[in-house]
Amino acid sequence: MNRNNILAFIAVVVVMVYLASAAMSGGGLKVLGKTIGSAYAGRPEVRPPFPRESYSIEAVDGGVRVSLSEGIGSEYEGQYLSVYAYDDVGGHVVRFKRVVSGEMFISDGEDASFIVLFNGDKVSEIVKPDVGYRFNPVLLEAMDASRNFGLERCLLGKQGETICPVFALELVKDEGEYGRVKPVIDRNKCIEDGVCTVVCPTRLLYRED
Ligand code: SF4
Repeated sequence: MNRNNILAFIAVVVVMVYLASAAMSGGGLKVLGKTIGSAYAGRPEVRPPFPRESYSIEAVDGGVRVSLSEGIGSEYEGQYLSVYAYDDVGGHVVRFKRVVSGEMFISDGEDASFIVLFNGDKVSEIVKPDVGYRFNPVLLEAMDASRNFGLERCLLGKQGETICPVFALELVKDEGEYGRVKPVIDRNKCIEDGVCTVVCPTRLLYRED
C-alpha cells in the first residue's frame, strides 16, 4: 500500500468511526439537510387523540371506571395513561393510572396527579395540587357540566421538550379535541433526529417507520 492509499484508508476509517458513534449517541450527521448515521432519525409525528368511542368513563361503586377498547387495552396493558377533566376555572386536572386488564379504576379517595395551567393555548405551568384535592369530583362535575374531559396519552413529563436539541417542541391545549394536552412540532426548527420519539413513554410522539 503506497502512502496515498494509506492516507485514504485512514480517512475512511475515521469517517466510519464518526458515523458509528453518531448512530450510538442518536445525534447523527447532517448532510444536505438529511440526518445520517442516527439510530432513530426520522420525522416525528403526533398521534391523533383516542376516539371517544374507543373508551367509556362511568361512575361505579367506590370510584370511576375507564373501560378501554381491545386495541387500546392491549397496547397499553400495564402502562400509564392520563384521565383528565377541566375544573370550573379552566385548569386541566389529571390523574395518571395504570391499565389493568383493559381498564383503569380511579377510587374516590385518590388525589389528582397534576393541574395544567395555560397561557392562551400554551401550557404555562404544571402544578402539584394540594393534598386532599380529589380527582373524581372534578371529573364527575365536568361530565355533568359538559366541560371537557377524557383519556389522553400525554403524561406531562415534558421529556420531548426537554431533550429536543433545537427547542422545536411545545405542549399545547388541543381545543378541537376536547381540550387534550399534546405536543406541537415546529417544522422549521425540527432537524428530524427523532430523539423525542424515543423518550416518549406512551408513543404519543412516533416515527412513521
Ligand atoms: S422535535 Fe426536536 S427532538 Fe423531535 S425529532 Fe425534531 S429536533 Fe429531534
